[in-house]
Amino acid sequence: MDTQTIIQRLEANGLRCTPQRFSVMSFLLEHPEHPTAAEIFEAVNSADPRSSRATTYNNLRDLVEAGLIREVAVEGRAARYDAKGEQHHHFICDRCGNVEDIEWYTVPGPQKSSLGKRVVRECELIVRGLCTACAPRKRSTN
Ligand SMILES: [Zn+2]
Ligand SMILES: [Zn+2]
Repeated sequence: MDTQTIIQRLEANGLRCTPQRFSVMSFLLEHPEHPTAAEIFEAVNSADPRSSRATTYNNLRDLVEAGLIREVAVEGRAARYDAKGEQHHHFICDRCGNVEDIEWYTVPGPQKSSLGKRVVRECELIVRGLCTACAPRKRSTN
């Protein structure tokens, strides 16, 4: 995504394009492996040492609230961030905590009767297990 598109996206969602906000957004677009806030801060800070931890965290929160990025909560570990535009599901590895994308498909939602007055925005899936690196290798049979 080019600079102009990032600026337009931010502004279309009511966010001023500050240099720090821009760095957070472009770092996330270049790193689809779901970095943590600490990793994002480290990268943004090494490019521009004036950016503070608090600013980075506030920018992440603003971007999540504006719907430009997603926060993927992983129990017991730091939240991960994702700027991928298309809808997708997530796979979370029990062992290493890796968060990977799974191609989107429509998940049957909960029964209407169990929702009461709740309004569903979306229904996404988190698949848990062992990632390719952590899964036990199949022993060859010969
Ligand atoms: Zn793993
Ligand atoms: Zn993702």
